[in-house]
Amino acid sequence: MDIEQQIQNLRDELNEHNYNYYVLDNATISDYDFDIKLKELQELEMMHPEFFDVNSPTQRVGGEVTKNFETIPHEYRMYSLDNSYSKEDLLDWETRLKKQIDGDIQYTCELKYDGASISLTYENGVLVRALTRGDGFQGDNVTANVKTIKSVPLRLKGTDYPQKFDIRGEIVLPFEGFNKMNEERIEIGEEPYRNPRNTASGSLKLQDSAEVAKRPLECMLYNLTGLNLGISTQFESLEKARQWGFKVPIAAKIANSIDEVLEFIDYWNVHRHELPYETDGVVIKVNSLQQQEELGYTAKAPRWAMAYKFKAEQVSTKLNSITYQVGRTGAITPVANLEPVELAGTTVKRASLHNADQIEKLDIRVGDEVYVEKGGEIIPKILGVDLSQRPLNSQPTEYITTCPECETELVRQEGEAQHYCPNYNGCKPQIIGRIQHFISRKAMDIEGLGGETVALLVNEGLISNYSDLYELTKEQVIPLERMAEKSADNLIQGIEQSKNIPFERVLYALGIRYVGETVAKKLAKHYKSIDAIAQASEEELVHVDEIGIKIAESVQAFFSSEENRLIINRLKDFGVQLEISAEQLKGQTDILKGQSIVISGVFESLSRDELKKLIEDNGGKVSSSISSKTSFIVAGDNMGPSKRKKAEDLSILLINECEFLQKIK
Ligand code: AMP
Ligand code: ZN
Repeated sequence: MDIEQQIQNLRDELNEHNYNYYVLDNATISDYDFDIKLKELQELEMMHPEFFDVNSPTQRVGGEVTKNFETIPHEYRMYSLDNSYSKEDLLDWETRLKKQIDGDIQYTCELKYDGASISLTYENGVLVRALTRGDGFQGDNVTANVKTIKSVPLRLKGTDYPQKFDIRGEIVLPFEGFNKMNEERIEIGEEPYRNPRNTASGSLKLQDSAEVAKRPLECMLYNLTGLNLGISTQFESLEKARQWGFKVPIAAKIANSIDEVLEFIDYWNVHRHELPYETDGVVIKVNSLQQQEELGYTAKAPRWAMAYKFKAEQVSTKLNSITYQVGRTGAITPVANLEPVELAGTTVKRASLHNADQIEKLDIRVGDEVYVEKGGEIIPKILGVDLSQRPLNSQPTEYITTCPECETELVRQEGEAQHYCPNYNGCKPQIIGRIQHFISRKAMDIEGLGGETVALLVNEGLISNYSDLYELTKEQVIPLERMAEKSADNLIQGIEQSKNIPFERVLYALGIRYVGETVAKKLAKHYKSIDAIAQASEEELVHVDEIGIKIAESVQAFFSSEENRLIINRLKDFGVQLEISAEQLKGQTDILKGQSIVISGVFESLSRDELKKLIEDNGGKVSSSISSKTSFIVAGDNMGPSKRKKAEDLSILLINECEFLQKIK
């Protein structure tokens, strides 16, 4: 078989597995085997850049960085929808429709997905562009980011699709992925995201598409637009789109009257809570495209469609008490403990009160009957108080002034909503949380040591910070609950092995506020050792790529603590990696320092990722678009004509692969 055929077969096969998994929710290959095949394809494509395809499944991992999203007009305007809230509203709508249309009207009922709207353009069966809604007339070009969403087909199935069309849909973040992202944020001491919808639309505007690729976004499609589509009803268009490989939920149904529409609404008003993603209503559309055309549009919305908004589910229940939790970073979160109550299919016992301002604003008091809602947020929220039921002896809530765990006076920084316990090294939940973070999988990954054992070790007084771990002996841990000879051995061994964990992960493990995995990598790469980071001034820090003032301040605060410096010195003495190893340093230079470099086209001996790594390893910065600031362009084959022209206009130097390799020799 020739190479081109082999590449094509792999692409087809991977596309099919992707489709089965992400569109049909039906896995047909193990993750492991999928990765192996993907690697195989990546290697073939690297060796044969002449068969490069922007829509190959290998392109879904992202990597393109966009600083400013280009604004592009929509070929067909993206309208908004009129809203209705009751049966009467819908009957009124039908009356208006009947004034314009003779004969029967059939409706398509669909779920209203709550996310970010998107318009995808396909030409000859290939995705060419993805635009956000913007103001409806023009949107932002987020193609690179959307390509990383696995349920968006890069290439359509079958052959009977129109030569060119737009398809509209909604990008959503299912609950499961949203919760997982939040767990990770809490891990690094960041505020959790408030709701999936905003997180989904925020994701589309991330600059680094590789970051978007990591987010479990999905794209649900609901509208075809274009000329000569060869389709006569909305329902048919959904079926067609599904056949072409788009994710179109099967909930859609035809209704022959408003009564049938109401049945659909009543059903989903209850069952929507079983869906893996957020919906906020139902969209009803006149089914016949012919009738749609006759009805046309108002200034802002189609006359042929109507959104029906579900009422956010609300109940009232009694607030039994307010307790306060202390997080790993010392942040205090007030929690409302409620009389258990059924809401949206689950029993609710607790709700977050967020912070002191929230409690004061709503004047929430223990003993109150409070309204609880489950809206876009995962954790139910308290909307307000039923004042008519307030007990006579009720007292305003006084926010705590000292830490519930260690009694240290709380602080609240200017401009921050949260109170903090500043007793960084003496407050139990902070100590335990920090060590738990230190040993976690993405950090030191200490095998044989779990979160509960950490709590036990701290409570028994055996350790009080992570450097103490390295002094633990087997004899000390054997007497602990649920420990035996074997598990004690494993624990000590696991700790010993963590001395091999590379510097960037150690840096992440330290639990410096705002220093997540990515930031730790950047800092490690730039400074190469913990001492260099500790000595860097705030001003120097903010000059590092992606390091802002908030991070810089936090890094400085961490190293200005005497106690932290002691702990770090101990880690150093124990042999933990606190600088980049000689091996990692090999091949790194400053040759390209301060240069902004654009990569364009395909290359013979290197993949784009390898090229990018070479540039970064040699101190340069890779930029996605050509500007007057571009130092030079590494140009391969098939460089786009518009890029070439721009480079000429700005007289920017083009060099080829060989010349580049020569440069960094
Ligand atoms: P609104 O933002 O409340 O004006 O509602 C209009 C938006 O609902 C559209 O821009 C779409 O992004 C979104 N939407 C979600 N599901 C659907 C659907 N099934 N049909 C049409 N629009 C939908
Ligand atoms: Zn405390």
